[in-house]
Amino acid sequence: MKQSSDSKIKAFYISFEWRKLRYATLLRFDRKCMCCGNENEIIHVDHIKPIRRFWHLRLDPENVQVLCELCNHGKGSWDESDFRNQFYENNQTTKKPENLIKRQTKKAASPSARLERLNKITKYSLERT
Ligand SMILES: [Zn+2]
Repeated sequence: MKQSSDSKIKAFYISFEWRKLRYATLLRFDRKCMCCGNENEIIHVDHIKPIRRFWHLRLDPENVQVLCELCNHGKGSWDESDFRNQFYENNQTTKKPENLIKRQTKKAASPSARLERLNKITKYSLERT
C-alpha cells in the first residue's frame, strides 16, 4: 500500500535513530556535498540505496552519504550512485580509520573550530524543522 509505506517513511525520518545516524554521518564526513563539494547549500544525508526499496538498509552507516540539496534532488530515487569513493579520493586523509581518528583528535584540540561546526549543524537542523 503506497499510503502506508509513505507514512512509514515519514515516521522514520523524524525518528531519533535516523537523526542520530544523520548527525553522526555529518560529523564523520563533514557538512559538505560529496558530489560537488558545495557547503553553502542545504545539506542532505542521502540513502545511497533508497529506503523505499531497501528498507532494511535505512540505518546502515554504509548506506548514507552527504549531498547538497541540488545534487540530491537531481539524483532522484532511481539513481544509486555512491559518491563516497570520490569523497575518499579527494580527502586522502580520511580514507583510513586511523587517520580519521587523528583528524577528529586534531579538531578536538581546536574548540572554536568545533563550536563553529556544531553551530552550522545546529543551524541546519533548526532550518529544517
Ligand atoms: Zn552538491
